[in-house]
Amino acid sequence: METTVTRLFKNDEGRVVGALAYTRESGRFIHFKAKAVVMATGGWGRNYKVTSNSWEGTGDGAVLAYDAGAELVDMEMVQFHPTGMVWPPGVRGLLVTEGVRGEGGVLRNSEGERYMENYDPEKMELSTRDVVARANYTEVTEGRGAPTAGSTWISRTSGTTAS
Ligand SMILES: Cc1cc2nc3c(=O)[nH]c(=O)nc-3n(C[C@H](O)[C@H](O)[C@H](O)COP(=O)(O)OP(=O)(O)OC[C@H]3O[C@@H](n4cnc5c(N)ncnc54)[C@H](O)[C@@H]3O)c2cc1C
Repeated sequence: METTVTRLFKNDEGRVVGALAYTRESGRFIHFKAKAVVMATGGWGRNYKVTSNSWEGTGDGAVLAYDAGAELVDMEMVQFHPTGMVWPPGVRGLLVTEGVRGEGGVLRNSEGERYMENYDPEKMELSTRDVVARANYTEVTEGRGAPTAGSTWISRTSGTTAS
C-alpha cells in the first residue's frame, strides 16, 4: 500500500528483473528484485479532463512497460462511461450509475430531443456503453449539448442532471 513504482529494471539480456519504487508516506525508495513482473496498474482515465477514475489512474504501468521495451497495442480502446456529473464543479467526475438508464432515465439534447432514437432506436438508452457514449459525443460536437461544456441531459419524471 502507498507504494509507487517508478521504473522497471532489466538485466544485461534485457529481461525485467525488478522495479524501483518509493513509499508515499516516507518518501523512501524500495528496490524490488523479482524473477517475473506482472503489470496490473489499471487504465488512464486521469489523462482526461473529466473522469471518475481514482487519481492513481494515470497510465503509469503502460509507461513503465513501454520504457522497458514492451510493445503497447490497442491503446485507443478506452471505454467511456456514458453518464457522469459535469456540473456543478464540486461533483464533476462523479459517475452516474448505469442504473438510472435501466430505471427509465432518458437522454435529451438542448432541443429536447430524445436523441438515442437516432443512434439505436431499438435499445435506446439501454444500448451499449460505447454506442451511448458516442451518441453523447456526437450531440455535443454538433452543437446540441447542454450549456455546461461537453454534456447533454439525463432526465426522468422530474429534475435533470448533466451527463
Ligand atoms: C467509478 C467507477 C465505477 C465502476 N463500477 C464498476 C462496476 O460496477 N462493475 C464493474 O465490473 N466495473 C466497474 N468499474 C470498472 C472497474 O473498477 C475496473 O475495470 C477495474 O477496477 C480494473 O481493474 P484493474 O485491476 O485493471 O485496475 P485497477 O483496479 O485500477 O488497479 C490498478 C492498481 O494499480 C495501482 N497502480 C497504478 N500505478 C501504479 C504504480 N506506478 N505503482 C504502484 N501501483 C500502481 C493503482 O493504485 C491501483 O491500485 C468501475 C470503475 C469506476 C472508475
